[in-house]
Amino acid sequence: MTERSLLMIPGPIEFEPAVLRAMAVKTPSHVSPEFVEVFGETLGQLREVFLSSDGQPFVVAGSGTLAMDMAATSLIEPGDPVLVVNTGYFSDRFAAICGRYGAQVDQIKAEVGDVPSPDKVEAELKKKRYRFLVATHVDTSTGVAVDVETIGHLARDNGALSVVDGVCALAGMAFRQDEWAIDVCLTASQKALGVPPGLAVLMLSPRAMDVLRGRRSAVATYYANLSNWLPVMEAYEARRPHYFGTPPVNLIYALHESVRQILAEGMEARFRRHRILSRAFQAAMGGLGLKLVPLSPARMAHTMSAVYYPDGVDSALLGKIRAAGVMVAGGIHPRIADRYFRVGHMGAVTPGDILTTVGAIEQALLALGYEFEPGAGLAAAQRGLGQL
Ligand code: PMP
Repeated sequence: MTERSLLMIPGPIEFEPAVLRAMAVKTPSHVSPEFVEVFGETLGQLREVFLSSDGQPFVVAGSGTLAMDMAATSLIEPGDPVLVVNTGYFSDRFAAICGRYGAQVDQIKAEVGDVPSPDKVEAELKKKRYRFLVATHVDTSTGVAVDVETIGHLARDNGALSVVDGVCALAGMAFRQDEWAIDVCLTASQKALGVPPGLAVLMLSPRAMDVLRGRRSAVATYYANLSNWLPVMEAYEARRPHYFGTPPVNLIYALHESVRQILAEGMEARFRRHRILSRAFQAAMGGLGLKLVPLSPARMAHTMSAVYYPDGVDSALLGKIRAAGVMVAGGIHPRIADRYFRVGHMGAVTPGDILTTVGAIEQALLALGYEFEPGAGLAAAQRGLGQL
């Protein structure tokens, strides 16, 4: 059995070799001038990735769930009303975390594959004075993208802080923190940021920082308290070391290289590439007669796709795709978990990766006796990729 395979799950993704090589340095002291420079420069450049001119970046050792935990524990005070725009498994998680820190959580849920309408969200915001409006930019369980620009403006117009889980979106889907009035955006390293798992990354607007500074009650947690990390982030950006917990030095070297590559590509070019590659993949699934979980193209993410198995095919498809050299993921949304599979196409993904994945899916479908015109998916993908 060959060790070669293409990792096309919705994170961790295939990483650029230069990013992996950047990690393989002899670990310097976390207070050495060379590391202070690397970390400080990376923090500043993250603003360009989030398109935030005056946000406060945080980079802490942990996964995306820690970033959610940090936002919730640091900003929510017991009794705060929170409205969650729920589009799946990871919205459920965010609602649970907010509840854990004492928020009164209300949720607007949509059917699987759908997004609550902005009118509904606005009507809900008018009923109660919510402190936070929470949304998942791309819910990795459904491949559904929320229009977080509208979420940001609705929150701002109704006196709430907007909090966006950008774990499966940031640095892939178009996102403009300033322009869209998003107060908190958080992510994890292993997705479109293109760095191995282990970094929780957040960007807080000045309004969110005011809420953090103006808290009335003590933060219930220690490691996850953003106030404990703020002096560290401020110091490194000012090119001074400061200690709270030892930073994951080698991962930050990797982040430094990945952010350099992201900015060299340019955010607009990156958003466009993700859009074209995802549309090509989604068109390929259509060409094979497969249905996507999002109910309409406008709701489909640009970083991943969730695809229903066709009639007569089940999760055996995953093993067959793997046998053709590509790893994709099974379903996780509790209502449809055994009826669909998920494919990540973000970060360093290339047109060749899209074609390889579509080709592997075709091979797997053929092996399982599904009837279709071989090459129909590849042809649709090729047409889409022609727009690059
Ligand atoms: N939110 C979303 C949208 C995610 O996709 C994930 C991870 N798949 C998380 C949160 C949690 O991130 P992690 O697994 O890094 O804790």
